[in-house]
Amino acid sequence: MSSKTEDIPPAHVVIFPFPAQGHMNCMLNLAHLFCLTDFHVTFIVSEFTHRLLLRNTSVPSTFAAYPGFQFRTIPDDHPRFGDKIADIVPAVTNIMVPLFKKIMADEDLLASPNRRPATCFVADGFFSFAADFAEEIGLPLVYFRTPSASYFWSYFHVDDLIQAQEIPIKVKGIPGMEGFLLRRRDLPAFFRTDDVNDHLLQSLAAATRQITRAQAVIFNTFEDLEGPILSIMREELPRIYTIGPIHEHQKSRLIEKKSEASIVAGNFWEEDRSCIDWLNSQAPRSVIYVSFGSITVVTREQLMEFWHGLVNSSQRFLWVMRLDSITGGDGIPAELMEGTKEKGYLVKWAPQEEVLNHPAVGGFLTHSGWNSTLESIVAGVPMICWPYFGDHTINSRKDEFLERANGMAKMAKKTVDRGGSSYTNLDALIGYIKSLTI
Ligand code: UDP
Repeated sequence: MSSKTEDIPPAHVVIFPFPAQGHMNCMLNLAHLFCLTDFHVTFIVSEFTHRLLLRNTSVPSTFAAYPGFQFRTIPDDHPRFGDKIADIVPAVTNIMVPLFKKIMADEDLLASPNRRPATCFVADGFFSFAADFAEEIGLPLVYFRTPSASYFWSYFHVDDLIQAQEIPIKVKGIPGMEGFLLRRRDLPAFFRTDDVNDHLLQSLAAATRQITRAQAVIFNTFEDLEGPILSIMREELPRIYTIGPIHEHQKSRLIEKKSEASIVAGNFWEEDRSCIDWLNSQAPRSVIYVSFGSITVVTREQLMEFWHGLVNSSQRFLWVMRLDSITGGDGIPAELMEGTKEKGYLVKWAPQEEVLNHPAVGGFLTHSGWNSTLESIVAGVPMICWPYFGDHTINSRKDEFLERANGMAKMAKKTVDRGGSSYTNLDALIGYIKSLTI
């Protein structure tokens, strides 16, 4: 005889990610964790993103194992990825969001013969529209803020900083961050405006405040890493679930469940695995891995400056150079290609996690994207930071990440194992979403 709870159909979570590489990776990892708990998941992407995901990645093979997972695509008119995040934002706001709302309304919250209407909406923390929308349709909303808690908290307090007239001159007033030596230049560039009424600043602050309207907020971080800030944040956002590092969490849950499903990696570019063969022929911890993520662009001059530094350091290096990451020239300069042969190896896109965990890698020259930072922490690889924009400057100021690579790696792995805080928080999040369903 089946019990009452067994008769209740599984929760149906609709996930709507912001279509940039780092955000997509986090959301796919979350979708996988939900699938492992037998939730039904509808993952909303544009047709453009869908094509990228199916072409380049483990996505089809991973999700084939879960009949409860489905993509729902939205027709779009998407600009090319990679060079300007500013191109993606209007495409998402003006094209994808209205179509998403329409689909949700027209299709009974994505119900189908096999699944109930959506019971919970997980939206990227960038999507300020989600708070009004979820309220209008009466759907519980969980925001997923994929960058660090410290970065979120700085945004959250922009209003206070403006009112205290601490922008743009000095920064000291963020509760929980007193011990954190933020200088003006550690804040994202748009914080450094001289105009406190600056439109971008004001709209980012307003969007960040929407978070308080969600029923819960997920962060890809862990308590040992950002504990003091998180405990202050909980005074304003009582239901925070820290479940990171989410890429490692996925691995640990697969092992625990003895699942044969593959780890999901949502690359928009094709991985060049030849770099692993090259690393195999290098001495332990002798190689610097150089990657500036999926959005950063460099000028030809910056590129050559880095290259001279690397070559003169007499250190071996593996360098990820996306073709669309170089401005003001015709692709990769020939002298750089030629001069790299002796000491280095260039690829257009690497299997980054595998690279960072390779014994030959001893350091990471990074733009300090949050995913790259967490992946480096888990692998115990010390970082040299060249922060580029957005959260990078704040991430790169967390000096303890750089100095205590091995200790941090142990903590990061422990937190996603049974009994660790991220492990426990994921179970609590799952329990909470189930409770919304009954
Ligand atoms: N990445 C990768 N291969 C590369 C470069 C980056 O797989 O050659 C992945 C990396 O592992 C990370 C993501 O792309 O998960 C980049 O996210 P991050 O937050 O570090 O930076 P962003 O691209 O958002 O600036």
